Amino acid sequence: MSETFPSSPLFKLSPELRLQIYTHLLTFPTPIHLRQHVPGTPHTALLRTNRQIHHEAQAVLYDTNTISLSRNDFCLLTDPALQTPVEGLQVRHLRFTSFGESLACNVLAERCAVCKDDARGLLEALGGMPVLRRVTIDYSTQIASFMRFRQLAAEEGGSRKGLTVTCISVGVYRVHGAGFDQVDFTFSHRPLASIWPDLATLSYSLLSEEEQETVLARLRTQDPDTPDKLWLLLWAAQHGRLSDVLGEQVAGAWVDESSDALAGMNEQQRDAAMHGFTVMLQTFLKAHTAVQCRRVLGLLRDSVGM
Ligand SMILES: [Zn+2]
Repeated sequence: MSETFPSSPLFKLSPELRLQIYTHLLTFPTPIHLRQHVPGTPHTALLRTNRQIHHEAQAVLYDTNTISLSRNDFCLLTDPALQTPVEGLQVRHLRFTSFGESLACNVLAERCAVCKDDARGLLEALGGMPVLRRVTIDYSTQIASFMRFRQLAAEEGGSRKGLTVTCISVGVYRVHGAGFDQVDFTFSHRPLASIWPDLATLSYSLLSEEEQETVLARLRTQDPDTPDKLWLLLWAAQHGRLSDVLGEQVAGAWVDESSDALAGMNEQQRDAAMHGFTVMLQTFLKAHTAVQCRRVLGLLRDSVGM
């Protein structure tokens, strides 16, 4: 870090104005990676100009942005030189793009406390971040690991300061207790969580088939696969043909989110219903292709004369 610009013109400005400049330069629309070895955006060069600017600007960087990390960055057996140089004390918003164990622990018989299925070490590390307000972990590529984590949390319950992992909506689970009650802490199956709400709304709308197709086309630009698969299910549910697609037994796990039945359930029943529904949808997404789903939807439409 250079100290050669002690009288930077920035310091002729009021602190408020400097803050505005930092905020303008250092606010990014998507989660940011702070990797040492990957060249950052040009604006983060500001952080390297001098110590006072670094101090002031870094606070803004952590205040306004979501920081993207992985278990690599917390793993106890990973070389620190390979970890993101994150200022844990300042992080407010955090995102994990996967729930996978670190590269180092992936090849070991005995994984570290951070990378173990119960993620105890990871929760401890996150619990030690004093200003942390939001954590989102995308588990869509490690569904089995996440489900084991949820299972272990449920089994240990009381011994982990009341840790609970509750399914609150399709694909989304909230972590409570264990010191996280002030933190908006969720695990999210990103394709499901981002696309389901739009499609569910679409299925209740009165739009024509052409208008529906426009919405689907827009969603396919976000994710080429998921919209057609979910749309088949929602369409079948709306037209009473769900058991034709899923079979009688599987279709039983379907939850109509707009129904009074869901509202009348207690928290535990609601969690069980939404979890069962989420698992069913995840299984369906894995088992079929978008092309198959479009073909089946065409057949169903023909059979009801639409
Ligand atoms: Zn590890």
